[in-house]
Amino acid sequence: MNLLSVNNLHVNFHIKGQDLAALIDVSFTLNRGERIAIVGESGAGKSILGFSIVNLIDKPGYIKSGSIKLQNKEITTMTPRLLQEVRGKRIAMIFQDPMMTLNPVLTIGAQLVEAIRSHTRISFKDARNIAIEKLHSVQIASPEKRFNQYPHELSGGMRQRVIIAIVLLLNPDIIIADEPTTALDVTIQAEIIQLLLDICRDNSMALLLISHDLGVVSRVAERTIVMYAGRVVEEGPTLEVINDPQHPYTQGLLNALPQMALPGQRLNQIQGNMPSLNERPTGCAFHSRCPYATDKCRQQQPDFIQSGVSSVACFMVENMITEFEQNTDEESL
Ligand code: SF4
Repeated sequence: MNLLSVNNLHVNFHIKGQDLAALIDVSFTLNRGERIAIVGESGAGKSILGFSIVNLIDKPGYIKSGSIKLQNKEITTMTPRLLQEVRGKRIAMIFQDPMMTLNPVLTIGAQLVEAIRSHTRISFKDARNIAIEKLHSVQIASPEKRFNQYPHELSGGMRQRVIIAIVLLLNPDIIIADEPTTALDVTIQAEIIQLLLDICRDNSMALLLISHDLGVVSRVAERTIVMYAGRVVEEGPTLEVINDPQHPYTQGLLNALPQMALPGQRLNQIQGNMPSLNERPTGCAFHSRCPYATDKCRQQQPDFIQSGVSSVACFMVENMITEFEQNTDEESL
């Protein structure tokens, strides 16, 4: 069932008299219980997309055009009161830094009880019992003790577990997790990712995971969307995108993984940098870093084409498909 649909979304930033495009023509759908990853280097537009979905783009940014629908309700034109209900109750966000969500001057218990009593009329004692049970369910040891502690008294991993406990209390349809484990140790990262996976599966919650870590993405997401310079450049089932990447940028990201380098060998890197908002070139924005770029790539923006089970925006892939089809036609004559 289609839960969220983003169609032809354009987000701009008005900076120093210039109107700069941060997201260009982004479209995708998310079904109930589905897990999608948004990947790309920093500056690709991943987080802006996450914030746009809950209409949290602050000035000088704004949604220029396009549509974001949550079960046919348009988010881009919602009143502040309705938006407030959507955020938290329908769509919850988990950030890299849990302190963006937690209040540093309130105890963990006070914040959980507040979340419970904001939409249920129950006594403090009952709310406390539920809060402790939720802390227990996200594998926080000694939940009674943690209940009375302040966020700064907990480790980063434990704070992220508290956020997941709050998300569980709100029981949203969608979790948007923006680099939720980047600041954590590797072993804790694996535990938090497993916890997120478990709660999404157990509660039929959809997950939009924003990440630059393709290792995490391959464990979590059923579908993967690759973004470059504000555009989607490849989209498909995660296994296909990772095992048979079509777009040269996706190929570059995978080649740059540490496990792709031989012992003693320098890590592979994509040459150059992602263009900033005011430096986006004409044509395919990846052309200055792409080993296959042609004059056409420097002048024109490639359209999306279907390549197997993936969709890709790249002239090289388009040419390969055309050649393959021509050869097949000639052989069948
Ligand atoms: Fe490279 Fe051209 Fe494809 Fe862009 S369109 S990724 S420049 S081959």
